[in-house]
Parts: sequence; C-alpha cells; structure tokens
Amino acid sequence: MTRPLYDRHRAVLPDWLALYYRRPLEITHGEGRHVWDAEGNKYLDFFGGILTTMTAHALPEVTKAVAEQAGRIIHSSTLYLNRQMVELAERIAQLSGIPDARVFFTTSGTEANDTALLLATAYRNSNQILAMRNSYHGRSFSAVGITGNHAWSPTSLSPLQTLYVHGGVRSRGPYAHLGDSQFIEACVADLEDLLGHTRNVAALIAEPIQGVGGFTSPPDGLYAAFREVLNRHGILWISDEVQTGWGRTGDHFWGWQAHARSGPPDLLTFAKGIGNGMSIGGVVARAEVMNCLDGNSISTFGGSPVTMAAGLANLGYLLEHDLQGNARRVGGLLIERLRAIGAQLPLVREVRGRGLMAGIELVEPGTDRANPEAAAAVLEAAREGGLLLGKGGGHDTSVLRIAPPLTLTVAEAEEGAAILERALHSV
Ligand code: PMP
Repeated sequence: MTRPLYDRHRAVLPDWLALYYRRPLEITHGEGRHVWDAEGNKYLDFFGGILTTMTAHALPEVTKAVAEQAGRIIHSSTLYLNRQMVELAERIAQLSGIPDARVFFTTSGTEANDTALLLATAYRNSNQILAMRNSYHGRSFSAVGITGNHAWSPTSLSPLQTLYVHGGVRSRGPYAHLGDSQFIEACVADLEDLLGHTRNVAALIAEPIQGVGGFTSPPDGLYAAFREVLNRHGILWISDEVQTGWGRTGDHFWGWQAHARSGPPDLLTFAKGIGNGMSIGGVVARAEVMNCLDGNSISTFGGSPVTMAAGLANLGYLLEHDLQGNARRVGGLLIERLRAIGAQLPLVREVRGRGLMAGIELVEPGTDRANPEAAAAVLEAAREGGLLLGKGGGHDTSVLRIAPPLTLTVAEAEEGAAILERALHSV
C-alpha cells in the first residue's frame, strides 16, 4: 500500500514548510472561484491560492495563452529579445505611476524584494534599511533580514542592518490607544528619532497593507508623513505591492495610491497575482535607480515567454472586465456583511480591509488577548463547510484573512459569508 501523501511530504520536505489544516488539503483542480481536493470535495476559495489566483482559477484566456506559447517556445533567454516581456513591461511601467519607469522581472516576490534591496543599497551605497514592525517581505537571506514579523524571519544573520519602524500594526503596541493623527505623530517622531542616530540609510520598505501581518492598514496619511521625512534625508521608498497590487484594494490599483499625497514610490515590487499562478515577480523603479548597477545581471527564468504570456492575458482580462471595480463593489459588500456578523460576536475584535482584502481579528472574548486557537478552529470549521480561508497576524496568528479571486460574485460573497458566520458561531 502506498503511504499517505502527508507522510511522504513530512519525510522529504522541510519541517518549516507551513501547512494549513489538521488534515492538509491536496488541491487537484480549480475553476472560477472554486477548487476541488483529491477526495472530490468542492470549496469556495476565499484565499485565491494565497492571493496568487488574481482573476479566476483556470481562466480560459490564461490557459490558452500559456498553452499557445508553450507550443511555440517555453524558454529563450534574456540575452535575446523577448516580445512578451517587453509588452508586459510596457504595460506595468505605464500602470505603475512611476515616471521614466524601468521594469525587471523575477520569479517570485522574495526575489523582487531582493532585487529592490540590491538596487537601493547600491544606489545609496549603504546597507542600512528601514522596515516596518510586523512586516513580511520574503524568505531569502536578505528578505528575512527586513521582515519584522519574527515568526516568519527564522534567522537573524542578515547582511543588512535593519531598523524597525512603528506604524504597521494599528491595534497593538505602545501607540494603540492613540487616535489617527496622534498615532501618525508618534510614528513620525519614532522615525525621526531613529534617523537622528544613523547615517546614510538606503531605503524604507513597507507593505501598504501588511499581508502576512494580518491585513492591517496604517491610517491614511502615515506614509505621506514618513515620505516627507525620508525625502529630507534622500532615503528611497520601496512599496512592496506583492499583496496589494492589481486593484485588489478596490479604490486603488496599487496600495501606495491610498497614500497618494506621498507620490509614487521610488521602487515598487510585485508578484503573486499577476501571473494567475504562473511565477512572475518584479521590480519597477525610476531609470536612474534601476540603472545604478555597474556590472551585468540577468535572471534565467525571470520574464520567460510562457509566464509573460500568462501575465499579459491575465492583466488584459483584469483591465477589460474592470476587476478593480468588482473588488470595490463586491469587497465593499462583503466587508459590510462581515462587520455585521462580527458585531454579534465578542470573539471578533475587528473586521478591517479594503476591497477584496479583508481581515477578521479574533480575541479571547471580553479581552484584548489574541486568540490563535479560535482562528485555527474557525479555519477548520470553514473548511468543513466548504470554504477556504487564510490566517495571519504576526506571532499569534489570530487574524482570518480573506482575499478571493477578483472575479468573486455577490452571490459567492454571500455564500462565503454565511459559511464563515456558521464557522465563527461553532467555536
Ligand atoms: N512580500 C509580501 C508582502 C508577501 O506577502 C510575500 C509572500 N507572502 C512576499 C513578499 C514573498 O513572495 P514569494 O512567496 O513569491 O517569494
């Protein structure tokens, strides 16, 4: 008899590879906003394969573009001209809002942030980086060194010198009791204080909404205020849009635009959704910053024709069908419904989010203490009810994360909310 897949997984893959669920899922196929597991169970997917399915599972336009391109050539090299790469770069450069933008493609969000760090440190001739507390930026040697969520930053041996700034988490920490403008003032004072003791910082990297950290948004105006301080010091701004890009937040195409007073970032990193599951990541930067490297550099697989074909088809679909508008409309209704559900339950501390990016923070009823056990139990109960969710929120993982494919319909939003309501009541 063959051993169960779970046992084989555990025997051959690293222990630190996180797996959801007591009985982990093997997803075998997907369509639209649904996926099926190996036992034939159907699930409504409220996590989009961790935000990587931007439009829909098995979107015919993407599948066709991938198959056609794979039938012609799967890989050439960045040493040759690549039409798909140029076309996708043109579209992203234009959408980025960054003047005189250049785009470099990678195969993951981690590598995109790594490249942004490479550029920023070279441009500023400094290995000092400012990052936000509770942030997540990836799993490479440098990316763990700027990840302020230490549950996801398993070594501290980074070559970068990182200083962590307050502001990512609104609901916890020493400034939690402050109103928005006082909170901003306190965070800016903290930043000024840090800069008073350092010289020549290269960049500040921040997620406009912290993803792994539990979908927490800083109050509007925080990053604009930070930006004024950074500009005075010539420090670059890197916006990590790996989770917040492509219209997911509804009101804006990029997360940074919610803080538009601060203007476009110097560098923007993207990944996850753009390939609808195909591995595309990348960096956009002003030409002056992108071109600051002295030697040559390439990525063997970054910008491969097949992934670029997927990206072009997926982005084309997103724009033609105004999925940002859908995220605003359906996401708005969903968040409203979740708030109504949460208001009935002392377990729910806060429902927050923008567009189709919603977080539900769970606490021990009657207290402010994080409740990771309840989050895990709700995840299991929702799965039993046919709904896949995410979780996050720093060390204590007490936030349910919702980020469905951007084609989610109102009926599916209502169906998912009803399953979630039952799951919340059951724990
Ligand atoms: N930045 C952010 C904000 C992320 O959420 C992630 C992935 N969760 C990454 C970077 C790393 O992306 P990848 O897993 O593609 O390397």
